[in-house]
Order: sequence, then C-alpha cells, then structure tokens
Amino acid sequence: MDAVVINEFESFDVANVPRPEPSAGEVLIDVSRVQLSVTECLLYRGESVAHYDTVKRQIREGNPYTRLFGHEFCGTVTECGPEVDSYQVGDRVYAPGKIHCGACPYCRSGHENYCPNTEAIGYDRPGTLAEYARLPVEPLRRVPAGVSDAEGAALQPLASSVLCMVDADIDPGDDVLVVGAGVMGFQCALLAKRFGAESVYVTDIRDRPLDIAAANGVVPIDATQTDPVAAVREATGGLGADVAVEAVGGAQSHATSGDDPLAQAFRAVRRGGTVLQVGHISGDVEMTPRSARSKAIRWENPRKGVADLGPGTDTGTLAGEFVASGAVPIGEYVTHELAGLGSFGTAVDITLEKKAHDALGPAQIVLD
Ligand SMILES: [Zn+2]
Repeated sequence: MDAVVINEFESFDVANVPRPEPSAGEVLIDVSRVQLSVTECLLYRGESVAHYDTVKRQIREGNPYTRLFGHEFCGTVTECGPEVDSYQVGDRVYAPGKIHCGACPYCRSGHENYCPNTEAIGYDRPGTLAEYARLPVEPLRRVPAGVSDAEGAALQPLASSVLCMVDADIDPGDDVLVVGAGVMGFQCALLAKRFGAESVYVTDIRDRPLDIAAANGVVPIDATQTDPVAAVREATGGLGADVAVEAVGGAQSHATSGDDPLAQAFRAVRRGGTVLQVGHISGDVEMTPRSARSKAIRWENPRKGVADLGPGTDTGTLAGEFVASGAVPIGEYVTHELAGLGSFGTAVDITLEKKAHDALGPAQIVLD
C-alpha cells in the first residue's frame, strides 16, 4: 500500500510499504480522509512542540520507512482481527483520543483520559497517512450516518471542545464570551449555546470567522473596531460574562488586537465567573493573582481526551451526534481538500499558513 514516509524533518516520500495485518483486538481501516493538526505540521518542520522527542527519535533511528502523523482521520473498517466484536466490516470510524494502557490506576477506575501510559496514534505507532491503518478498537468511535467523511476527519478536535464545554459547567441563561474564533473557538461557542447559554459572543480580528459565527447565531465582536471587554460588560448590564473562554492558544498575539487573550478573558468575566482555558498557550504569561482572587474567578483547565458522560455515551460519541444533528456545523472550517498522499507537503503549508492560503481550518487529504 502507499504511505507517507518521513525520513528527515521537512522531507517526505510516498512509498510502497507492506499492508498491515490486524492483531487481536485490532481492525484494519481503509482510510478515506486525513486532516492534519497544527502540532503535526510544526513537528514536520522540526519545531520543538509536543511529541518532538518521540518524532526526533523515530527519524534518527534510521528506519527506511518512518511512519508519522495522521491521528485525525475518517475511514472504514475493512477487516477485523481476532477478538473484535464491537465493530464490523463497513463501519465508519474516527479516533477522538489516544490509546490507553488499560492497566494503570486511572484506567482501572474509569478515568482513562488521565492515563499516563498512552500510545499516541501517528507518534508512538503509525497513523493514518496511508491507504490502510491498523488500530486497536479501544480509541475508535463510529462516525454517525449523515456525517460526511470530511466532517468525520474533523471530529477529533470537536471531541476535545465537547469536553471543554462540559467542564465549563454552563448554567441555562449564562452569557459566554469566546476569545478567538478558530476551529475550537467556533466549536466552543456553538456548544455553549447547545448547553444552555443565553447569549454567546466571540471576538477575533478576522472577518471571515466572525461572519460564520454571526451566521450561526453567535454575536461577533471585531477586536480591531471594538474593545471586547467593554462590549461584553455593556451587554451584560456592567457585570461581565458568566464564562469567558480563552481559545487562542499559541503565542498570545493573534486573534486579538495586540492584547493578551487570557488577560481579556479575566477582565471580561464577571465576579464569581469562570475562565475556561481551551488554548495551549506557549511560554509563560503574566497574570496578577490578586485580580483573580478579588473577583473570585474559577480558572478551569479542562480535562483532556475522551471522558465518559453517562451510560452509553462519552465525549467522542457525543461529538458525532452534535454534527449529525446540525448543532455544530464543523464542515464550515474544512476549506481545503487535497487529492492523494502526495499532497502532504502542500497540506502542511496550508495548515500552518492559513491566512496566506485563505484557509479557515487545517487542510484535509482525500484518499481514493
Ligand atoms: Zn492507563
């Protein structure tokens, strides 16, 4: 089968490699779509972000077929290994999280998402940048009927957004501000509505995501024209937002007009409110603990991975249902679909330089 192989940073080939055989508890997946993540693209360029040591070791080991990346995907089960009874040939699947060890105290007590011994798809084992992928069934969830392959490949970040907004503990009637209208900011804004918020505001400095937010019932605040903190205070009778979501991450300079998004969230939240930390901020930020203390702010760092939400459902399953029902139209952010594994390099460029390519979300690679 064809697969992307990466033998050096910033260099890839599409090579013919053996098609894997599923072992016990595993399935073989016919991959239809792969969506790149920003982390994967930064790693490809040799940047020292999450998983860097693993990627560097894999490349330095000199395996002629180093297989990396591809944890956001949609595919169809095409073969079941022994002891697989939860999936059948023909099921469409995605993976909302990592593979858990199943043996540690967290896994044994039903808190798999805290497992410290995870295996990451595309880093610790080959991912889905190939015609076929072999994966255990444990991290997989079904892609519901009515959800397209493009949406299926974009479901993994939504599962994280669902868990974030569950942890935000929104009460009916709440006013919510989301700072940053990127993929997860947009998702968190729509989920806030779904979870009962009365008014949801989103602030950014880019027209297009603000327009999409407005078309979906979210109040847009253009930070180049309006101070978001003042706007939210005014709209809430001077109180501020019940929940303020920091969904910018990375360097604290984009999506706002020269202001620190986390500081904006702290200023915009009301007394006794919640600041929800969705973005992964790089480096350190300055904050004044006294201001958080005097306003009695709860600074919530959401759980990671896939958490059980009740009998028969978890965040990975619920994410698919939200897309199937139309509650969160994630297809809006799939703007660049490229044909074939050979487009990997272009997909990296688009995903990292969205503005230059007029892209909203990461690029997707379509396999035949
Ligand atoms: Zn574990």
